Amino acid sequence: MIYLSEINDEYFTIGEISFNEEMESVFSDKEILWEDVKSIQFSKSKDDVNIQLNNGEHFHLPSDTSGLISLFKNMPASVANSDKEYIEQIYAELSSCNVCGNIAVWQQQCNVCHSDQNDVKDNNPAVELENIKEEQLQLFATYEENEAIDWEFHLDPHFKRDPNWKLLVTEEEIMAFSRENTWDEEL
Ligand SMILES: [Zn+2]
Repeated sequence: MIYLSEINDEYFTIGEISFNEEMESVFSDKEILWEDVKSIQFSKSKDDVNIQLNNGEHFHLPSDTSGLISLFKNMPASVANSDKEYIEQIYAELSSCNVCGNIAVWQQQCNVCHSDQNDVKDNNPAVELENIKEEQLQLFATYEENEAIDWEFHLDPHFKRDPNWKLLVTEEEIMAFSRENTWDEEL
């Protein structure tokens, strides 16, 4: 699985998760400076995006790669791109994420919290509510006992916020979840 992270106006990271023979997940990250990027273009089918570097290296990302929309939002004018119209159309079609509240969902992927809306949505509203809660617990989880919850890291200046979004978990629930699941976890 390919993902994009740490996207800002200087660089971004293309990451890949694969599994080794012991079925452990292996992460490999490649940091790419915007000044090294020649062009970013959608393929004709719009199914994937081709990132071409000045040194001839290139990468193909499926168009539902989480973070792709953030990539376009941070893309400097020095990068060649002829998809402006299509990208504007994508921006207009973004829907809101019920996990983090950003209007940043395209092709079921939230470009801010990286939740997959296919995993969240359910025909049974009670199940969907539980799914959202579970995702929110993971989103706000802390990693050490004395760490304070960061309530603001999911605020992304590139995306509008859905005024109807609600946080469905309490601080106590997040701390209890973290104690059980994420404290002392080896990262
Ligand atoms: Zn989200």
